[in-house]
Amino acid sequence: MTYVEPAPIAIPSEPIGSIPRPPDLLQKLAQVDSEDPALAALYEDAVRDTIERFEATGSLVITDGEQRKYHNFLTYCVHGLPNTSADGFKIPYSDGHTRRMLRLTRGPFRYLRYADSYLDMAMRYAHVPVKQAVISPSALSLMYPAEGFPNYPREQFIDDLLREHETEIRRCLQKGAHKVQIDFTEARLAMKIDPSGQLLDSFIDLNNLALSRFSPEERRRIGVHTCPGGDFHATHSAEVDYANLLPRFFELKAGNFYVALAGEQDRRRVLKIIRKYLKPNQRIFVGVIAPNRAGIESAEEVRDRVLEASEYIPIEQLGTTDDCVDVPHCLDSLFCASETGGLGHPPDLSRVYFET
Ligand SMILES: [Zn+2]
Repeated sequence: MTYVEPAPIAIPSEPIGSIPRPPDLLQKLAQVDSEDPALAALYEDAVRDTIERFEATGSLVITDGEQRKYHNFLTYCVHGLPNTSADGFKIPYSDGHTRRMLRLTRGPFRYLRYADSYLDMAMRYAHVPVKQAVISPSALSLMYPAEGFPNYPREQFIDDLLREHETEIRRCLQKGAHKVQIDFTEARLAMKIDPSGQLLDSFIDLNNLALSRFSPEERRRIGVHTCPGGDFHATHSAEVDYANLLPRFFELKAGNFYVALAGEQDRRRVLKIIRKYLKPNQRIFVGVIAPNRAGIESAEEVRDRVLEASEYIPIEQLGTTDDCVDVPHCLDSLFCASETGGLGHPPDLSRVYFET
């Protein structure tokens, strides 16, 4: 009898993306506009530093930390458009603070920049594959005012929005993004705003219109991220039961799903819901590190979470990630990072720190 060593199983692991900005960049951002040439060197330093530290963790896939997304992950592509105002849709958080979307003041709707412009710089520094996060069409659809415009109807807006979103993803794929992750944080929020599920359904339908434009091959490199929307240690929708979200969430025509899980009260209950609703050809990256919680997980804790997930999700459909970091807005101060002990990053079960 010869003993045959079992073949190791590789479970893919990817970070969600956001990393706190360094203090000198934050300081400058508070003083000048996002396109000010004075920022160029600071952006470059921040991206280089993020990538160096990401790679030092042994991560096989990295991001640029979203260092250059101004003013935040929601509106980076439309920030600075002359036909917007700051008094858009309000996102309420559990501690009482709110964030506002931009509001479209007239047509036509266009992106001012696409996320592949961030990839250019990141790929100059990276030695491993880089993924890129983009904002969902459903989030940007909130920019269109309820009363509409007589000469720019909603249908035309949606056409323009879908075309811009598709263009952005194609540009990222063409430049060699390892994955394009669509940030869909408003999914869970939609169930809080409208418990009937109609708003979520409309978001899913809209995002599926966009995803339908891609081939099955392309969709294997496209993913969708859901989370309770961390911001200043508060969330916008943690109280929404995943049971009300995930069945619809897995109807999205994407190949990859990034689900915040480590911070959930009852992970096994969520894993059972995932097991029930996931479809073949879908890879589920579950959060195994909760960066927004106090303290740092031990390697054993993270290992146990991966093993726990593997009891529910077939190994060939399992991936790991983090529960995303609560510094999605570029002027957020670094106290978040120092208070929570830095950032989670699964691949080598270590942590990335940004000193304050
Ligand atoms: Zn998130």
